Amino acid sequence: MPQPLPQPLSQALPPLYCPRCGTPARDFAGCAACRTEGIGANPVPPPADLSGLSLASFPGGPWGWPTALPVAGPPVTLGEGSTPNIRLPLGDSSQGELVVKYEGANPTGSHKDRAMAVGMAAAVASGADTVAVSSSGNAAASAAAYAGRAGLRCVVFTTPAVPGPLRAQIDALGGVRVVCGDHDTRQAALRESVERFGWYPLTSYTAPSPGGNSYANEGYKSLAYELARDFGDRISTVVVPTSRGDLLSGVARGFAELCAAGLLPAVPRLVTAEPDAAAPLAAALSHPDRARQERTSVPYRRSPAFSLGERTPTWQALNALWGSDGTALALPAEEYLAERQTLAAQGLFLETSSAVAVSAARRWVREHGGLVIAVGTATGVKDTAALPAPGEAVERVPELAGLTLR
Ligand SMILES: [Zn+2]
Repeated sequence: MPQPLPQPLSQALPPLYCPRCGTPARDFAGCAACRTEGIGANPVPPPADLSGLSLASFPGGPWGWPTALPVAGPPVTLGEGSTPNIRLPLGDSSQGELVVKYEGANPTGSHKDRAMAVGMAAAVASGADTVAVSSSGNAAASAAAYAGRAGLRCVVFTTPAVPGPLRAQIDALGGVRVVCGDHDTRQAALRESVERFGWYPLTSYTAPSPGGNSYANEGYKSLAYELARDFGDRISTVVVPTSRGDLLSGVARGFAELCAAGLLPAVPRLVTAEPDAAAPLAAALSHPDRARQERTSVPYRRSPAFSLGERTPTWQALNALWGSDGTALALPAEEYLAERQTLAAQGLFLETSSAVAVSAARRWVREHGGLVIAVGTATGVKDTAALPAPGEAVERVPELAGLTLR
């Protein structure tokens, strides 16, 4: 008889193993063996076998290929995924193509919906009645929505730094918002809720951060499947805005599964985009040897890209770059804030963190050409604090008084 796994892992779901050292996971706190070395590594379920599937008929979304997910049972869904590919003008001088995969078109306006749909199904399969997240915003709003869809309670540990529109979204969707003083306090509060009450964690709560719930993160593989279906082997580079690398490593796993099944010849180059105020991946790759890269730490500084910024790289984020001949770019605020305005003037209103990725992708395509995909992770309506103050439109209002309306 197998011994029951300690909570909150459940025997209803496949076991998780550390991709770095192979140690089986006992909880969602990351690999305990790697943590003793100061390295945050997230155990994962076995890769899916996609052989026999047809990429051309992939329906899109995390539930598009149910057998690619670690969770059986009824999907929890709000229609996430199948997001648009939006081509950006580059001018006549460029030989490349730049496309934004617009994840702001997901139900709660961010890429997190791909993960939370699967994570909530995992919570239901595990018998949870309450899910908990520690989040600067997008993950919290998404968790609240999908918990409501699944009939679960959602507790959100945040800080006062969460932008007002996101607070309103979390509250409206029924998330129980607990405001903590700072990032470390909210992480500690989530950890205590998991250990004392058995609440089901959908984000990470230990240091160094290993990344979020590994079952939920499998939902991100669908972004790679959609890109491969839409562009095939034409993709040269995919640029992902990154802090802990849940999206990045999920996309990398999705591409790797496609390659293993013969559905794609090679994993495209993966490039991370970070704000230069807190860019542990760019700092890590400045060291020549991997042992040093794994143990990199930088001071945390806030930036206008509020949902990005970390102190340490996760191991799986580094592994995604190592496995694709990838690299990490750190962008200054003036560059990505200007990018955000340029995109908005063209009708594409992105969160500042997403503009970091488009900035990096624009640099990359100018220097290297090819088809470059930037993942635009969230809509700009959540994050209006970094925008220029309005003024001109208001000043024009009195002019309207002289018009004759018919
Ligand atoms: Zn490990």
